[in-house]
Amino acid sequence: MGRCQAEAQGRLISTGRAGLTPEDRHPDLRALIRTVPDFPKPGIQFRDITTLIAHGPGLAATIEALAGAVPAGIAAVAGIEARGFIFGTALATRLGLGFVPLRKAGKLPVPTIAEDYALEYGEARIELDPTLIDDGEHVLLVDDLIATGGTALAGVALLRRAGAVCDHAAFVIDLPDLGGADRLREAGVSAHSLIAFDGD
Ligand code: AMP
Repeated sequence: MGRCQAEAQGRLISTGRAGLTPEDRHPDLRALIRTVPDFPKPGIQFRDITTLIAHGPGLAATIEALAGAVPAGIAAVAGIEARGFIFGTALATRLGLGFVPLRKAGKLPVPTIAEDYALEYGEARIELDPTLIDDGEHVLLVDDLIATGGTALAGVALLRRAGAVCDHAAFVIDLPDLGGADRLREAGVSAHSLIAFDGD
């Protein structure tokens, strides 16, 4: 590394560290998630991650925590549109892996395979370009939140139909009372989450 490069890197590192408070180094991820009652319909406590991702140290700590729990042998990260794209792409970049998007219906310009599923509040379909998956490739599924597990199970089914081995999934938030993580486990998928909100 040249002197200028080293100096520039040193400046960057020291500037960054000097600007961090103890709270920035260990951000309270739970406190960075905004809860919006009765959205998108009465009775739903919406766990809004936009306040978390807008917080630089919070976003970095989230990705580090997700990366720390990724098992050996994962060859690609798949994320569910749209919030799974944010965490999945950042995690894939952090791990040096490729990212596979599981898209909402009608968005991909190529032949797809699709799964329909029920949401906590509605119905939806996700689609995958199966040529993005190598046969037998170990793929980690990522989304922002697991509630009933319908979305994640549809993602797992799509990835498996495309030839992936999908035995692991990672989420920022789990709503354990809705049973999604248990459903994933019954389907042979270990579900890792950073934060649980009980009583939802
Ligand atoms: P589910 O299929 O029931 O596990 O729902 C998970 C999906 O719906 C995720 O993609 C979440 O982004 C979204 N979702 C479900 N419930 C909530 C909630 N209470 N707050 C925020 N997002 C939610």
